[in-house]
Amino acid sequence: MAATYRLRDVFRQLFTVGRQKDCDELCAYLKERYEGEAILCKNGRSALAIALKSYFDTGDAIIVNGFTCYAVYEAIQAAGLTPVFADITKEDLNFDVDTLEAAIKKAQAPREKIRGIIIQNSLGNPVSIVAIEQFAKKYNLSIIEDLAHCAGVKYPDGRECGTVGVAAAFSFGKDKVIDTISGGAVVLRTPVKHRIKAPSVAPRPSDHLRARFYPWFGWSCRKLTALHLGGIRMKILVALHFVEKSADNRLDLRRKISKFEARLALRQFKNLRKSGELPIREFCLVKDRDAVLKKLAKAGYYFDGLWYKQPISPERYYQKIDFPEQDCPTAVLVAEHVINFPNYYRRSDLMPAINIVREHLWEEAK
Ligand SMILES: *Cc1c(COP(=O)(O)O)cnc(C)c1O
Repeated sequence: MAATYRLRDVFRQLFTVGRQKDCDELCAYLKERYEGEAILCKNGRSALAIALKSYFDTGDAIIVNGFTCYAVYEAIQAAGLTPVFADITKEDLNFDVDTLEAAIKKAQAPREKIRGIIIQNSLGNPVSIVAIEQFAKKYNLSIIEDLAHCAGVKYPDGRECGTVGVAAAFSFGKDKVIDTISGGAVVLRTPVKHRIKAPSVAPRPSDHLRARFYPWFGWSCRKLTALHLGGIRMKILVALHFVEKSADNRLDLRRKISKFEARLALRQFKNLRKSGELPIREFCLVKDRDAVLKKLAKAGYYFDGLWYKQPISPERYYQKIDFPEQDCPTAVLVAEHVINFPNYYRRSDLMPAINIVREHLWEEAK
């Protein structure tokens, strides 16, 4: 849960009435802030798929960060596109112009089929946008910005993430910057090639219920993490399927967002501007991750769901993907050594954990 939950807001969400107005207001907000036509979706991967379908043809290829969430891969597949994975750097977990050039050279897809690039700004670390834009121009690529990790973040040149590409896709999934447990949005910033139908099927009653109670669970989880019980509580919730694991959130282009999610997302967008509490997850590379995780667990910290333990995460999906490990050696290495701090801990509560991690930093990566 990225957002801090105030008790007053928790109760407001519990007893509120969901209205179409909530969706309309979120759309209006996104339209103004990101300068385009906003469509609300069931989740981030559906939003990304709509963005891709709007600007590309089936059979096109698209460059994507070689260190990402399965949700991104799923969206690319759903849009009928071929992914071209670019390796990352250890410094910011993003591709740079060198790894992009290498990816284009080695890509199996014909050069003229590669027509786009997805910028991810991993864990809230922005790419060197000016250089990436030049690269995109050189190869005539349309830029799609994936804001799951980086809503509210600014690029080094001062522009806001989401105001550069032809489209911006948002995830409001669990642990993302805007976190209403599920939901997403896409902002189409330039005229589309294909007009995709906006979602029109009503959310399931259980979606509404989850979104209504989510802030309450978030609030109590935070209280419990202070007692080192939050991880346990979350595990119970996941087991009860109250909280869908975000990697298992189904892609669905027809299903609408819950009005409760829209309402909560809008409030978080507005808070984002004020708080500037970033990045989403701080990361470092440790030598023997299993040993560090054991030590952390002993100290009462459960860092499950690390971003990411495989170049395309989580593992159960990675096995199904034909990932070009030989072309993305840094992504493979980073996935073995990376550790990052879940944002449901307060920074002051995290200090002992940070000290443990600091003792085990991976020398080669410095
Ligand atoms: C989580 C995530 C998404 C979308 O996730 P949903 O679970 O479908 O909301 C998209 N891109 C990245 C990089 C993500 O981490």
